[in-house]
Amino acid sequence: MRDFSTGHEWLSINTATIRQQQGEERSLLDIIAQCDRRGIRAISPWRDQVASATLTATASAIRAAGMALSGYCRGGMFTATGEEGLQAAHDDNRRAVDEACTLNAACLVLVVGALPGALQGQALNKDLQLARRQVEDGIGQLLDHARECGMPLAIEPLHPMYAADRACVNTLEHALDLCDTLDPDRSGALGVAVDVYHTWWDPKLEAQIRRAGAPRLLAFHVCDWLTPTTDLLNDRGMMGDGVIDIPLIRSWVEDAGFAGYSEVEIFSKANWWKQPGDKTLATCIERHRQSV
Ligand code: ZN
Repeated sequence: MRDFSTGHEWLSINTATIRQQQGEERSLLDIIAQCDRRGIRAISPWRDQVASATLTATASAIRAAGMALSGYCRGGMFTATGEEGLQAAHDDNRRAVDEACTLNAACLVLVVGALPGALQGQALNKDLQLARRQVEDGIGQLLDHARECGMPLAIEPLHPMYAADRACVNTLEHALDLCDTLDPDRSGALGVAVDVYHTWWDPKLEAQIRRAGAPRLLAFHVCDWLTPTTDLLNDRGMMGDGVIDIPLIRSWVEDAGFAGYSEVEIFSKANWWKQPGDKTLATCIERHRQSV
């Protein structure tokens, strides 16, 4: 396993981690400059942040800073109640692939979607099996375009607590089953994003990481699971503050052939989003050395 204790060259910052600083929303261009000042070599920005800053300005800021993108957040949300909705999702995902290409991202991360309407507060049906079929079809269709562009797609299985509203793919095993169905040649065009927050509890995690191997392991996301967790979405912990054995999971991922960035992705309304961004970044760097 790589030694992270003496430097942070393999640290990437998911820009959601410092999108709010002292409770205020910060622009992506500010965030890029802050990361650059700290010697951070990679980020993973969100589409809405890129849209606010404009794609052109984001691409040139990233180029000027000499930064890499460990991923682009995010595509997905493939499910809908009718043809029109499915087509709209497909069109939007094609645009996400194109943006990821412009930004030269390592992959486009897919949060696949779940019961239509649930994220807006009211699920329009209870058909999780249908949602899963739509996800498979949606990824299959998008894969054609992504292959043409040379942009790998990374399915991110989410913790089961999000099965209703964000992602009906909840285990690494399920994500890899989809990969095997849609990309049986293990071409590198389709793989997974392993986020310790979503997967740490899974008794099959080690075996599934081994199954994935280098061609499927496209991204590795870190933060920590706090006890108690007070908010299902926005109470992620800083590495070292919770119960996840992150170095153990990193050792599995690296033994399986992953050699990319460890991307810090923390949504923390009550704590880190209230702190000054420079303090959050300094802590990410320190914990990346000690607890990743
Ligand atoms: Zn993640």
